[in-house]
Amino acid sequence: MAPVLAYGAMQEFNPHMSLMNQHSQAAAAQAASANPLFDDWSGPFGVPPFGQVAPQHFLPAFARAFAAHEAEVAAIAADAAEPTFANTIDALETAGDALTRASNVFYLLAGAHTNDAIQEVERELAPLAAKHWNRILMDEGLFRRIDALHRRRTQLGLTAEQVRVLDRYHARYKRAGAALDAAAKARLGDINERLATLGTTFSQNVLADEQGYTLVLDGEDDLAGLPDFVRAAAQAAAEERGLAGKHVITISRSSVEPFLQFSARRDLREKIFRAWIARGDGGGATDNKAIIAEMVALRAERARLLGYPTFAHYRLDDAMAKTPEAVRSLLERVWLPARSRAMEDAVALQGLVQDEGKNFALAPWDWRYYSEKLRKVRCDIDETAIKPYFQLDRIIEAAFYTANRLFGLTFERREGIPVWHDDVRVWEVRDAAGRHRGLFFGDYFARGSKHSGAWMTTLRDQEKLRGDIRPLVVNVMNFSKASEGEPTLLSFDDARTLFHEFGHALHALLSDVTYPMISGTSVLTDWVELPSQLYEHWLERPEILSRFAVHFRTREPIPQDLLRRLIAARTFNQGWATVEYVASALVDLEVHLQAAQSDTRAAGAKPFDISAFEHDALARIGMPAEIVMRHRPTHFQHVFAGSGYAAAYYSYMWSEVLDADAFAAFEETGDIFDAGTAKNLRDHVYAAGGSRDPVELYTAFRGRMPTPDGLLRRRGLSEKVA
Ligand SMILES: [Zn+2]
Repeated sequence: MAPVLAYGAMQEFNPHMSLMNQHSQAAAAQAASANPLFDDWSGPFGVPPFGQVAPQHFLPAFARAFAAHEAEVAAIAADAAEPTFANTIDALETAGDALTRASNVFYLLAGAHTNDAIQEVERELAPLAAKHWNRILMDEGLFRRIDALHRRRTQLGLTAEQVRVLDRYHARYKRAGAALDAAAKARLGDINERLATLGTTFSQNVLADEQGYTLVLDGEDDLAGLPDFVRAAAQAAAEERGLAGKHVITISRSSVEPFLQFSARRDLREKIFRAWIARGDGGGATDNKAIIAEMVALRAERARLLGYPTFAHYRLDDAMAKTPEAVRSLLERVWLPARSRAMEDAVALQGLVQDEGKNFALAPWDWRYYSEKLRKVRCDIDETAIKPYFQLDRIIEAAFYTANRLFGLTFERREGIPVWHDDVRVWEVRDAAGRHRGLFFGDYFARGSKHSGAWMTTLRDQEKLRGDIRPLVVNVMNFSKASEGEPTLLSFDDARTLFHEFGHALHALLSDVTYPMISGTSVLTDWVELPSQLYEHWLERPEILSRFAVHFRTREPIPQDLLRRLIAARTFNQGWATVEYVASALVDLEVHLQAAQSDTRAAGAKPFDISAFEHDALARIGMPAEIVMRHRPTHFQHVFAGSGYAAAYYSYMWSEVLDADAFAAFEETGDIFDAGTAKNLRDHVYAAGGSRDPVELYTAFRGRMPTPDGLLRRRGLSEKVA
């Protein structure tokens, strides 16, 4: 059984018609009534037949898959035999196969290669999927069996992994409301369906605002300050929009951030920055404030029905953090040093403004521009000097090399595997003994049909319940593609993102568990960023960089002094980065600490005012005027486009406490590839999935749990000790 809508939660949609669409329509006509989603996929490695799948195949496939899953689950619930682990949990784990497969293909395309038709399917599918999972997860007969097994779990002769799976089933059903009375279940069901629709609308509104805004640059004046790589990307974006000869900046992060970093035109920086932070907040048809109000109220009501004072309490009860107090305590521990560092930096940036003979007060649209200048002064480093050393192909090799040194994996490029776009590359992954471990798909380039950001997903998860099933693992990025014949160059941040997502990919590729439910990245949200963030550490090491950061023209490795400065610059501007992140995490937490109104439907219930709330929450923590939250609520997709990171955006920082400490385990041996430490890491983290409680896993790896000190040191925020 697939994790509930886990992959649907984070998707945005793009109205661009794409190659895939033309391609698929042709294929659909050819295939007439055949639906490839009904069939077993007999191609190489069981990869879905992407060339044959068309948008109109999805709704019929989902209808059939829902019905099949429901019949399977009904049979389990109605089994006259006494509940056993095999006839209940094993049976549930192997049910819903068609649904898992349809979902994996659909949500991959909805994120990485969408179009109008897929977007429409998504809107129709959201409430149908919610209704389906309501039926499954609130099934009384089924819960009675799970509960009976759970009570006797120590007497069933189960393996440790089976006990964990049983615990997770019990928690999942309880948390879904399976133990409630009929009236509460009915209300909860309505709430879930409504939330699914609201989440889809939220993300489509953000995308509409992103697509609806472009800054067209016309002539050299408008391009002032922009280096070649920003101009090239802006030129490509203009061409894509039929504006050949001009330059276009969009408000997707990968386009707007470099512009803010380099554009000497303060008026244009302000213009696009204001548009960027107003996504979902513009009034009119795509405004998300009413949606947020309704979602916050419904989530609080759901939590109350399930016996929790607030949604945050409900959410965190099933996380490593356990309580809102634990989350707040970590965030506040980091907030004060980060804020004071950011305020010091603001003074220095203001000084640069004055040095230019200008007298305006530093504003949020100035921060990136002047901090790029400050970085040159303080660290003697600038983006345009670094970039020629970061070729996409070499950084991919670096990620593979690291996995080889740590875990013995090898990667061999494979052609002829079905993919969803010509840019997608496929590698076969083998272990040290040469055995097949899975396939890795890399989809690296930005395009109009792709959701912004970077993520990892799977087309199939590792498991051993039904035989030795090997995973199909996907990384999706948004790097600007170089023109024909030129190598694609990355920023250091891009390279770090590649390592981050590859760390998630390894979590899936190295997974070595029996049960699908706890396979790979199917773990608690505040644990899932450990394997990814930890992997970033290797990129920042000279052992990797002096080997793989090679100039694309001269083929010379990065000069030692540039390398040294690059690594030393890691803590530069971390006050600002920490402030924009922690402010978002704190607001996410506080929003979900709203107590439920007795009934959201009650007449006279006062609607939640997110604008006032945001303003007050930021005032309370003393948000510096020169910095804006990394994600303002009206476009905070982690939190409102589905519930993926709702009351859980802190998870990145929680995992960072762990990754800072985990990498130290290697450093302490004097070898960042130390074999013994790598074996421990593999056994207790990358291969372990959700097979044990994360505190147990980490303690097994490191012998103890860490404190936040390592994180503060890594961000350069710890007080200097004399
Ligand atoms: Zn991640």
